[in-house]
Amino acid sequence: MKIKSLRTWRIALPLRRPHTWAGNFTPVGYGYTVLKLELEDGTVGWGEAQVLKDWGGEFGSRYGEAPQTTKIVIEELLAPLLVGEDCRRIELLLAKMDKFVRGYPYAKAAIDVALHDAVGKLYGIPVYQLLGGMYRREVALAHSLGLMDIQVAVDEAKHVVDEGITTLKVKVGIDAKRDIELVRRLRAAVGPDVKLRVDANQGYKSWKEALQVTRVMQGENIWYMEQPCEGLENMARVAQNTEVPVMADESAWTAHDVLRIIQFQAAEMLSVYYTKPGGLLKSKKLLAVAEAAGLRCDINGSGEMGIGNAANLHLAASSAIIDLPGTIPVTSTAQIVRTKVAGHKYLDDIIEEPFIYRDGCMLVPEGPGLGITVNEAKLDQYSVG
Ligand SMILES: [Mg+2]
Repeated sequence: MKIKSLRTWRIALPLRRPHTWAGNFTPVGYGYTVLKLELEDGTVGWGEAQVLKDWGGEFGSRYGEAPQTTKIVIEELLAPLLVGEDCRRIELLLAKMDKFVRGYPYAKAAIDVALHDAVGKLYGIPVYQLLGGMYRREVALAHSLGLMDIQVAVDEAKHVVDEGITTLKVKVGIDAKRDIELVRRLRAAVGPDVKLRVDANQGYKSWKEALQVTRVMQGENIWYMEQPCEGLENMARVAQNTEVPVMADESAWTAHDVLRIIQFQAAEMLSVYYTKPGGLLKSKKLLAVAEAAGLRCDINGSGEMGIGNAANLHLAASSAIIDLPGTIPVTSTAQIVRTKVAGHKYLDDIIEEPFIYRDGCMLVPEGPGLGITVNEAKLDQYSVG
């Protein structure tokens, strides 16, 4: 059960199309970290972190990492703490990492996922069994329309609805007039039954601008407004002056952040990643706080590859409170294409068999651990360092 080694790759998969949002200046999907954690008996656990140097929380209080820093943190700072330890003692190992290396939740999330994968394989059970068991097998998806030309967004929306998607996530937060026009055009194109949710990525310049945009978009029956502006105090002003539910993403990294959101009444919904809190175990603790306060949650991320997607699915499958459709990419490989456009971020992947996609949902895999097989030849093929 002892950990023998940790090794990382920086991966860049070929993109179906570039994806971007307000405040994003790093190519999404370039240099994402893949971690191989090996036990002394040869069992392998896989982890992944989608590291973006300009992805972060409000006012610089939380931040992502860059692929280069994540690699150094894992291999030079965290691996020496873990080698020789019992992989089953996940809570203890997370505490040890937190004690000796502050921060770096993405590096720690990759390790946490690899530990869960290894432990699941040791006991012959899926990771969701380690997280409370299967609450749902099918995880509902939202397709994310990044910042793009309005007509291109409308065409893509129609295409993914034809592929079974029932919820569209629309990136806004650049220009109020353009954003409102986009939502109007999308509503007209997809009809009244498709759910539209918008994500401003803190892009509106003030809470009043955010509130005005939200009120106009309410006329197009948006489901909820995600992170309209920066800062809990400003989020609270929006949330308390509109009937449209407000979702916190950049403001919600840790369980402690969620406590503050509750205290400020700054949101009714949370965008939950397995990475922001530092792994699956800490995500479950964050979800417990959210559940106690009646906040609804989705699973979100930054364009996960197959390993990260598996982590997303096991977390969503085991958590009753994650009942909103999440922006989990639909994994395809060069050999097996699940969807043409819906959730389709990469033209190939590092796992052998993509997850089953059906009617706007993905199914959590049933095999031991994460339930995936990583293609190590593709890790070498797509490695950028
Ligand atoms: Mg978001």
